[in-house]
Formats: sequence, structure tokens, C-alpha cells
Amino acid sequence: MKRIVILGAGESGSGAAVLARVKGFDTFVSDMGTIKPKYKKLLDSYHIPWEEGHPHTEALVLNADEVVKSPGIPNDAPIILKLKEQGTPVISEIEFAGRYTDAKMVCITGSNGKTTTTSLIYHIFKSAGLNVGLAGNIGRSLALQVATEQHDYYVIELSSFQLDNMYDFRANIAILMNITPDHLDRYDHCMQKYVDAKFRITQNQTEDDAFIYWQDDPIIRRELEKHGLRAQLYPFSAVKEDGAIAYVEDDEVHIDRPIAFNMEQEELALRGTHNLYNSLAAGISANLAGIKKEDIRRALSDFKGVPHRLERVCDVRGVHFINDSKATNVNSCWYALQSMTTKTVLILGGKDKGNDYNEIADLVRQKCSALVYLGLHNEKLHQFFDPMGLPVADVQTGMKDAVDAAYRLAKKGETVLLSPCCASFDLFKSYEDRGDQFKECVRAL
Ligand code: ADP
Repeated sequence: MKRIVILGAGESGSGAAVLARVKGFDTFVSDMGTIKPKYKKLLDSYHIPWEEGHPHTEALVLNADEVVKSPGIPNDAPIILKLKEQGTPVISEIEFAGRYTDAKMVCITGSNGKTTTTSLIYHIFKSAGLNVGLAGNIGRSLALQVATEQHDYYVIELSSFQLDNMYDFRANIAILMNITPDHLDRYDHCMQKYVDAKFRITQNQTEDDAFIYWQDDPIIRRELEKHGLRAQLYPFSAVKEDGAIAYVEDDEVHIDRPIAFNMEQEELALRGTHNLYNSLAAGISANLAGIKKEDIRRALSDFKGVPHRLERVCDVRGVHFINDSKATNVNSCWYALQSMTTKTVLILGGKDKGNDYNEIADLVRQKCSALVYLGLHNEKLHQFFDPMGLPVADVQTGMKDAVDAAYRLAKKGETVLLSPCCASFDLFKSYEDRGDQFKECVRAL
């Protein structure tokens, strides 16, 4: 019997284990950390053996015929290097799950906008009555759904880490939102490696498939010339220009292909330039899936948004508070600042992933009235931003002090924006934890 070993027992790993078991493989799960109780319960209910809390037992892992690796485990982890050296295939959960379903795959990647676009597409498909599953980086295992449910479509958010270990998987609709530097610490600080990972979303696509992308992204354009894709191309842009098939003209959103579609831009539920891109990409996918125009229009206008992405919290004595905790890189902070309509007190900082703050320097000068550095190591922020001469608060203790400092610095009519440019792991469990604490502290002011 073929032996499948799953490394990492989070959402994707446990799901892959259930699918492997259901398909009759000899299945084993190994996690060096602690497995969450709900996943232990899931594994036990399928009688899947697992280990946790110590280095992977080589005797139980190296005898695998194939290994499914969780995206959180780096490609250069010692056990992965050993597996590769002995020629054992290491794949991602999405690659594994893709083998066992004929459903149409709508896959979304990019440096920013993945979760918003994925949620919006799911919302449009679902409200149009399609039998659709939501999966991937967004927090639901594709493999578990393939093992236990039956869908005609899957809308899948893919991080570059998931794409890294995908080989034969084919996306019927692939969406690439943008490519800006992110996670470079996991790609030997080599931008091209990160770009290549993102472009893997197009591999195996045929002329029956669609590739939707942001026309104005210089990196995507450059790479397109190199790759010579077979898929049908659906570029979108904020304005009508050479080649774009979705754009805004005279305050109307237009999609020219495959079926001509239009609606008032004013009616889009999501605001701001970056969200226009997300709405355009989602609109094209829905159009390709044959969803009726009126259903697309309705769903694009009644979408409720996603928490921690430019989420309005409340106003406290004339100061607006916005939670953009998901802005874990400089580019998403750029978009957040760009959409600000008042002077802004920006809270930023955390675990720096090799950030270059030059990208937001002009916007900080234009839009910010003060800065709050929130992190264990704020030296780089001091070095870069202090010379601008803005009032600055340095907070190393936690969210309450950061919110108090920002509130003190903000004048009536201004906005306090949490858009940290950094990962959250120095002071918080996750970006959700960081955003939740922000909202809690703001509401307690
Ligand atoms: P991801 O899942 O790729 O991290 P999200 O949809 O969670 O993206 O959005 C994260 C942040 O990125 C948002 O808070 C917003 O500031 C910014 N953002 C969203 N969409 C885009 C886009 N299309 N281009 C650039 N930035 C975006």
C-alpha cells in the first residue's frame, strides 16, 4: 500500500490526511509543534496515526512514497532536504487534493488582495446559486472538502508557499492580482524566486483556461512576455488602455469579454483603488463562469467586506479608527494610506520581513500627522521615518499603549490607521489577534 506522510497538522495537513485515508493510503501525520485539539479529534475520528511535539521521527517519515508538506514548513527544513535528497516527492495539499476532483478550480494569488478577491468571488458564485466551495490560504482545507463534500467549483486562495509545491495542478481560472516584494526571507532574498512561485499559478493551463491579471503591474507584464502562456488572457486596469478588457470609463465599470457587462462604479460595495481591482478580477471570473449580469451586479454591490482589511471600527470624539491589521507588507500599507481622506496617525511596526519603506515615504509625508511605532524592535522605523520630523511615539509593550498614544496624537477629524507593514508575531499571535486587540482597545477608549 502506498504510504503518504503529512508534515504539519494544521488546517491543510489534517485535511490532506483525511483525504489520503479516505483514498485508502497508509497515512501518517507528523508535527513538530502541538497539534490543536480539533485537528487531533479529526485525525482520531479517521484512525490516522500522528505524532507531535518533537522532531519528526525519521524512521516514520523517510519511508513515505510521497509527502504532503504544510505551507508553513520552509523548503529548506532539514527533513525536507533529506526527503528531496532521497528522491521522495514533496507536494502541497492543494496539489494532492486536485488529483481527486473534477470540479472547476478558480485560483487566486498575488502579493495583496488575495483574501478579499477570493471572498468576493465566493460571495458572487454562492449568491448566484452555484455549488461552490471556499478553500486554501483563506482557512479551509481543499483536501477535506474533496474528501467529504461534493462541489462543482472551488474558489481557492493560494499563497506563494502553496504554489511552491504544486506541479500537475491545473487552474481553470487563474488570477494574479499583483506582484510586489513580500516574504523575501523565504526566497533567499531573491525577488525572481518569489515571482516564479507566483507564476506557477499558470502552469498546466491550456487554451480552454483563463488567466486574469492586473495589466499595469510591470513585473507581471515582463513575465508574461517570457512565459508565452496558452490560456486566454483577461487583463484588467483602472482605466481603459491598450488591451485591458475590464476597466472604468465615465464612472462605469466595464467588462468586455466573454460577455459584455457594465455597472455604475458608485454601486460597488468595496471602496478605494485597490478594491476596484479586486472587484474587476472577481467580476471577470463570475462572467467566465456564466453568471447572469444582474446576479454579478447585485453581489458586487451587497458584499460585506472582510475583517482586518481597511475595516472601519468607530469614531471616538471625532477621531476615526480604521483596522488594516492585515497590511503585513509595505505595499498594502501604501494602498491603505492612498485611500485615506483625512490626515492620519499611522500605527506601524512588528516583525519586519525585509521591508523597504521608500515605497510609502511620499505618502507618509503627505498624509500622516504622526506615527506610532509598535514592535519589539523599532530601530529601523526610527532610522527611516524620524528624519521626516513628524511627532513619533515608540511603543514596545502592546496594543493598549499604542492606541492610547495614537489617540493622544490625533486631532479631531483625523484618522488613526493601524496598517503595520509587518507581520505580527513579535507581540501578537497573528494579524487577527492584533486587529481584534486594536478594535477592543479602541472601543474601550
Ligand atoms: P492578501 O490575502 O493577499 O494578504 P487581503 O485581501 O487580505 O490580501 O488584503 C490585505 C491588505 O492589502 C488590505 O488591507 C489592503 O490594504 C491591501 N490590498 C487589498 N487588495 C489589494 C490590491 N488589489 N492591491 C494592493 N493592495 C491591496
